[in-house]
Amino acid sequence: MTDIRALGIDVGSTTVKIVGVDAAGNLAWHLLEPAEPRVEDQVTRLLDIADREKSSDAKIPLVATGYGRGLVLQATRRVTEITCHARGVYRELRHGGTLVDIGGQDSKVIAIDPQGDVLDFAMNDKCAAGTGRFIENTARRMHVPLEQMGPVALATTAEVLISSTCTVFAESEVISLVAHGAAVEAILRGLHRSLIKRIVAMIRTVGLVSPLMLSGGVAQNPAIRKMLEEETGAPVILPQHPQLMGAYGAALMGL
Ligand code: ADP
Repeated sequence: MTDIRALGIDVGSTTVKIVGVDAAGNLAWHLLEPAEPRVEDQVTRLLDIADREKSSDAKIPLVATGYGRGLVLQATRRVTEITCHARGVYRELRHGGTLVDIGGQDSKVIAIDPQGDVLDFAMNDKCAAGTGRFIENTARRMHVPLEQMGPVALATTAEVLISSTCTVFAESEVISLVAHGAAVEAILRGLHRSLIKRIVAMIRTVGLVSPLMLSGGVAQNPAIRKMLEEETGAPVILPQHPQLMGAYGAALMGL
């Protein structure tokens, strides 16, 4: 049983996250699952679990965010991911800067002012390169566990250039490079570089205000943080639970 005063649910294209906050706005409880095709059923099931978890019977606010927020029929409010990620990250880190959110099928760069307000943003949801899917596809094809992709890429300083800008072509290019004897570590480093270059181009359109902050599931990949620092020269700061920041920000809006 947990003291939960508001819930936030982030229905992403890849995962669904639900967060409960206490009266002081601390992240008190959470669940994360892969997104299921029947979103409404999954949301209902997660809300039942949350209902059993909360210590009081009082009805509490539920704020929905993410790509599938329109499908959360029980929501008392729906808010964009841009606002929610900014809110969650600002509440934890307590400073402005440029926030990079890399999810499974989209990525965003959000400029946050010193008061926590969103000044500007750029979003890529048209192309899988520059998103988690880019790394996931290759991980699957190369039989490297997703959690190992970053560490393997960081295990070398050698780097193979991946010239394909499309994720489908990049996948074939990687397979061909392996067949021609290139080292897996150097290929994976090149793959991460390619994703980072796309993110840096987005950062340029919004403008970099140091420090950089990272949210979204891909923030858990250590090569992303390291290479983003290398490419921009700016320090990169992570909240404790980067993948939960959208749902956390949503829950804070409900308080
Ligand atoms: P969305 O909100 O768009 O559904 P998330 O923010 O939940 O997406 O991020 C999902 C992405 O995070 C996936 O593409 C996955 O590859 C990546 N991811 C999740 N966990 C890890 C991890 N431990 N290491 C590297 N990447 C990860």
